[in-house]
This record gives sequence, structure tokens and C-alpha cells, in this order.
Amino acid sequence: MKKNSINIIGGGLAGSEAAFFLSKHGVKVNLFEMRPDVETPAHKTGLLGELICSNSLKSNRLDTGGGLLKAELNILESSLLKIAEENQVKSGAALTVDRKSFSEEITRLISESKNISLIREEVTNPENLEKPILIASGPLTSPGLSGWMKSVLGEKHLYFYDAISPIISWESINQDKGFFESRYGKGSKNIFNLPMSDTEYKNFWTELTNGEVTPLKEVDKLIYFESCLPVEEIARRGIKSLLFGPLRPVGFENPKAKGAKAVLQLRPESPEGQFFNLIGFQTRLKYGEQKRIFRLVPGLEEVEFIRFGSMHRNTFINSPAHLKNNLQFKKLSGVYLAGQISGVEGYIESVMSGLIAGISILSSLKGIEFTSPPPESMIGAILKTILTYKKNFQPINANFGLVPALITKIKNKKERRNAQAERALRTLKNWSDGFVEKI
Ligand SMILES: Cc1cc2nc3c(=O)[nH]c(=O)nc-3n(C[C@H](O)[C@H](O)[C@H](O)COP(=O)(O)OP(=O)(O)OC[C@H]3O[C@@H](n4cnc5c(N)ncnc54)[C@H](O)[C@@H]3O)c2cc1C
Repeated sequence: MKKNSINIIGGGLAGSEAAFFLSKHGVKVNLFEMRPDVETPAHKTGLLGELICSNSLKSNRLDTGGGLLKAELNILESSLLKIAEENQVKSGAALTVDRKSFSEEITRLISESKNISLIREEVTNPENLEKPILIASGPLTSPGLSGWMKSVLGEKHLYFYDAISPIISWESINQDKGFFESRYGKGSKNIFNLPMSDTEYKNFWTELTNGEVTPLKEVDKLIYFESCLPVEEIARRGIKSLLFGPLRPVGFENPKAKGAKAVLQLRPESPEGQFFNLIGFQTRLKYGEQKRIFRLVPGLEEVEFIRFGSMHRNTFINSPAHLKNNLQFKKLSGVYLAGQISGVEGYIESVMSGLIAGISILSSLKGIEFTSPPPESMIGAILKTILTYKKNFQPINANFGLVPALITKIKNKKERRNAQAERALRTLKNWSDGFVEKI
């Protein structure tokens, strides 16, 4: 290797994953993280790899996008996925983590790594740093750095909003009104459910749709992303929309759910189960309105809010126009981009993007040409999509719609996806053995 060091901007999910990968391969990493001195509108701590909304890293099932993506990351020995698995909270079929111990462990391992220097500083002009540089500053990139990107890329940024679900305390719930069970009995049973009658639901829906929301800043353009729509926005689409979404009353055997019009689900936030989040209840309602409206749900009459839901700007660049297949900027040699800002959407997708950027940078440091992951794999399919998207680019999360069809048609959806997953894992393993292992 001619050069053996890298500057990474952002110690979030993508930046930390890339730092772990490169440091394990003997590269000296300077990891710049601006928190806690400079804050973002959503992070609450100075910890690396902080999860800012849900504590779920999605399903583990291979016939789901998130499940397949995690299986592929396991083949590539993702460091953050390993830490997530070691810090999980049992919850249905999903990989759900204790957010505090997850981020604390990332921070501890990075701080103790002899190849990584953690520098608590905001970078506003990467041109002052030596190349290679990886920008992994996330959806809440500081205004200074996004201003630099805007000036260099010469193109307008794109903005949209995400929403955070409220977290409530277990002891403040009237537990007699609900029951533990996971829908259709899948996975463990520590999801707590609160049923609502027809009258209770109608009253709740009316108040929710009329609730006062935080005003939008004029400069921000509102583009909702379908997988993280605010609950009041889903409700406004019609009185039944929540009943087919987060409040669907199906898949329960407990007698308390019999005849229920709607069921609100609560997911544990910590292994001790003292905090729960309201699943699918990301919101832009004002805090006072959240108290008033969510307390209409039977069982939550006197609930204590540990954290209110909220909504924030999310920044990403037009990757198809600006990135090469190795995640390097077309205009800026030696500068790479990873994570949510590159147009992937989601925690695990950001981890994946950081890992691929790490692999790409290592190959470049060693003078080996980067080979893209196979398009049949979920990783390859996501990257191919963000690099070739034609019009109105929007962030992409892991889903089977991106994976190419099989040559032989399989009618049954589950069987078809399992066959696609088997092919994805096989081709990714070949890529790993034939390229990654040889760098
Ligand atoms: C409000 C919100 C809620 C979200 N909720 C979910 C969810 O529930 N589930 C999900 O799957 N995805 C969610 N996402 C999307 C996405 O998965 C996460 O934002 C994820 O953390 C992105 O990972 P990242 O590494 O790209 O960015 P981050 O994890 O945000 O890491 C970027 C890091 O860069 C630092 N930084 C920023 N600018 C600078 C600078 N100039 N100099 C130095 N450091 C800098 C930041 O402090 C941060 O630590 C959410 C996004 C937002 C905005």
C-alpha cells in the first residue's frame, strides 16, 4: 500500500462501520465526529452509531429485504451487525437492540482501537484534509459541511422529512387494558398490545386527524418517505388507513383482541422492558397534542412520555448524478460518500453502505480495481439502484422489488423470495471469496 491512512467524516452507522473495516485491515483512520460539541436536531448523546428513531434493525426473515440484507452483511462480517446481535432485545422476528448499550459498545471499541483516532471536531471543508476522504455525515449533516457540498457539486440539495415515534414508560400504562402477544405468533411475545373499540377508535382518529402539528420551515421542501410517514398523515388518508397499517387488529389470539376495531402495538426499548415505543407512531404533532391525543388510547390515559415523537430534515444527494460505482465522487478524486446521505434509506442500509465504501477504499489503497457486488444480491441491487436511478431520485431501502427476477418462475411469493435469497447469498459469497478476501 502506497498510502495507509484515511479521513472519515461522521461517526454514525456508516462511518463507524467503514472505520472498523479499514482499521481491521491495517489502515490508520482519523474519524471526525462533531458531537457532542456540535449537535444535530435529533441525536441525544455524543455516542457513535446512535440510533435516532426506532431501535429496530428490521426483520431477520430471509424473505424480507431487511432480513436478506443482514444475512449478506454477516457473510461480509459486518462489525456493527455483530455488535447489534450482541446487544439485542428480544422482540418478535426483528433484530431489535438496546440503543444505549449498542452505541456505547461501538464508542468503546473505536476509542480503544489502536488504528483509529477519534477526533471530536466538525469538518466544514474537507479540502483541508488529506485524501482519501470518506464523507458519512448522515441525513443531519451540519450546515457548514452541506454548504461545502452544495458549492462543490453545483447542484441543489434534496430535502425530506422523517418522523420519530414517542417512547413511554411501562409503569405508567394501565396494563389491565392490554396483553402481550406478537401478531400471528411470530417470534417472542414481548410486544404489548392495546385494543380499541369502534367508538374509541373513531374518537381517536378524529382527534388525530385534527391535531396541531409543528409548522414547517419555509425553506424546507416537504417530501414524505412512504416507510416513515407520520401517523397523522396516514390517518388523514382515510378513516380505514390506520386499520390496514400500524393499528391493524388482526393476528391475535388473546380474548382481549376479540371484536377490537384497532390494536396499537408497543415495542420494548430496553432489555429490562421499562420503556416502550409506539410502533409506527412517528409524528409531527406538537408535544402537548401528542399527550392529549395518544392518551385517548385505552391503557394510555395517564401515560408518561419519556421522549416525544418529532420530525426532522433529512439530507441526501443526487447520487446517480454524482457517484461512481465505487462510491467515489465523479468530480472529486479520492473523496467517497456513504450512508444515508448517499441515498440509501435505513439503519442497516447505512451500515451496508459504510462497509462497501470501506471495501472500495481498501481496494483503491492497494491499487486493485473495485468490483461491484453482484446485482442478484440485495447489496448489489441497492447500490445499482442508487447509482442508476433515472428521474426524481428518492432514498432506497432493502426490498425484493430491486432484486432481479428468477429465470424459472415461482408463483408462491414466499418460495420465490426464498429462492431469490438463496441465489443472493450464493452470489455474494462468491464475490466475497473472489474479491473482498483477496484485497
Ligand atoms: C429523524 C430521523 C429518524 C430516522 N429513523 C430511522 C429509523 O427509525 N429506522 C431506520 O432504519 N432509519 C431511520 N432513519 C434513517 C437512517 O437510517 C439514519 O439516519 C442512520 O443513522 C443513517 O446513518 P448514517 O451513518 O448515514 O448517519 P448518522 O448515523 O446520522 O451519522 C452521521 C454522523 O455524522 C456526524 N456529522 C454530521 N456532520 C458532521 C460534520 N460536519 N463533521 C463531523 N461530523 C458530522 C453526525 O453527528 C453523526 O454522528 C432516520 C433518519 C432521521 C433523520
